[in-house]
Amino acid sequence: MDELRDKLFYEQKNGYDLIDTAERVKCEEYCSDYIRYLDASRTEREAVKNAIAEAEAKGFVEYVPGMALEAGMKIYQNNRGKALTLAVIGKKSLAEGAVIAGAHVDAPRLDLKQVPLYESDELCYLRTHYYGGIKKYQWVTIPLELHGVAALRDGSCVEIAIGREKDEPKFVITDLLPHLAADQMKKTMAEGFTGEGLNILIGSVPYADDGKDRVKLAVLSLLNDLYGIAEEDFLSAELVAVPAFDVCEVGLDRSMIGGYGHDDRVCAYAELKALFDVAAPERTCVCILADKEEIGSEGVSGMQSAAFDTFMEDLCETQGVALRRCYEKSFCLSADVTNAFDPLYPEVSEKRSEAKLNYGMGICKFTGVRGKTGSSDASAEIVGHLRRLFADFGVVWQLAELGKVDQGGGGTIAKFMAKRNIDTIDAGVPVLSMHAPFELVSKFDCYMTYKGVLAAYSEKDA
Ligand code: MN
Ligand code: MN
Repeated sequence: MDELRDKLFYEQKNGYDLIDTAERVKCEEYCSDYIRYLDASRTEREAVKNAIAEAEAKGFVEYVPGMALEAGMKIYQNNRGKALTLAVIGKKSLAEGAVIAGAHVDAPRLDLKQVPLYESDELCYLRTHYYGGIKKYQWVTIPLELHGVAALRDGSCVEIAIGREKDEPKFVITDLLPHLAADQMKKTMAEGFTGEGLNILIGSVPYADDGKDRVKLAVLSLLNDLYGIAEEDFLSAELVAVPAFDVCEVGLDRSMIGGYGHDDRVCAYAELKALFDVAAPERTCVCILADKEEIGSEGVSGMQSAAFDTFMEDLCETQGVALRRCYEKSFCLSADVTNAFDPLYPEVSEKRSEAKLNYGMGICKFTGVRGKTGSSDASAEIVGHLRRLFADFGVVWQLAELGKVDQGGGGTIAKFMAKRNIDTIDAGVPVLSMHAPFELVSKFDCYMTYKGVLAAYSEKDA
């Protein structure tokens, strides 16, 4: 019976029972690189900028349309500083298709409004409009940093970053003391904090003179000293407030990584490292760091934009290949995070189908809500392809489903890739407290996701 059971039952093992010490060392090395990257990448712009710096150090050059392409060439295309596509040219023609991995580098945050600055009762505030799916109560009474750019009237653009360095000040949204919160505490968690109420405290000292709005004047005066900007420059600025926590190891065993923006920079970094490590690929390997996934992949820098098709079409033209022929033979790993089963909240999960921490890269055959609506739903054949590939490359992986049926759900860039007639499947790192200011992942799963993307790029059995 035991023999038959071993043969016929599907049983998962904890990832740590499946790897040796040598692999654990590699896992640690990979994760310390990732921690550095995430800590320095607080916005999509910074994630792109830091990725370009790492890529250039590895010999990647900026792609210029018409550039002659040889096997092994490493190129990248920067889409307006907010999204990035990198490629290593394969030995085979693009007529055989490309291997694509697509992650996103935007994350939920508090965007400043375009007229954000105001003074109230001699305190100065910044008004915000949140970006992506947040639980608003999580964003009060935590230290915040400000990042972004202001485009000035003279055509120049100033980069702004306050709070990341140790000696720099932070910002905060205040909350009511419990002593006076009797009424507030009766509200539901959805009603307790409103979007219009998420105003960031930025200063309290009045300008030393008579007149009104003296604190606001003092704050503007400081900003003017630092960046040469005036209030009108906020109109053409893109400034965001993000959590000011350092990315750090979590747990006595240091097995987890806590930080802001794992979703989805954790998969973006896995792709990036895998692309750096793929040696002389057969088919062209493409790595996407997309923007705007958190609000539906919209805009010129999102995956619905033609920017990606233009880049791929340029590459195809160089080889005399029609883009549609390349797409129909391509494979895409939509690398995005998934929910990790949380023992504190078992009621929303169907334990057998939910990804678990330390069980490896999570493969989502489908995502979506209410009967899989909005999902790309990869075919059985594509899941089978990954099973073979991951077995060959020693990738520890698990099937992942986001919550119980009808409990909720979500989407990724997968459906926009599939719409291009590219075989696509979702896969990525399981996360605890997803979309919170401080998200949690396991080092093991981060490392296995890197190995999973590397396996896809290397595709021995293609
Ligand atoms: Mn995501
Ligand atoms: Mn997300």
